[in-house]
Amino acid sequence: MILVAYIINGNCIRCGACEPQCPVDAISAGEDRYVINEDLCISCGACAAVCPVNAPKDEDQVD
Ligand code: SF4
Ligand code: SF4
Repeated sequence: MILVAYIINGNCIRCGACEPQCPVDAISAGEDRYVINEDLCISCGACAAVCPVNAPKDEDQVD
């Protein structure tokens, strides 16, 4: 099975809530949004669950 990574879209307001939730430390603060290291992400959805603006998306859902 191939796991697709989550991607944080442009809705991100850089609140930082997702970063400590990631079990594999895949999230870090980027220039204009937080970013997910796709090589580490196990697509658990924890970041999406805490995000106030629904910015982390499964790769298949990215608009
Ligand atoms: Fe981390 Fe899970 Fe979000 Fe991937 S989906 S970045 S593993 S919290
Ligand atoms: Fe951005 Fe959502 Fe993470 Fe906050 S929780 S930093 S808005 S992706």
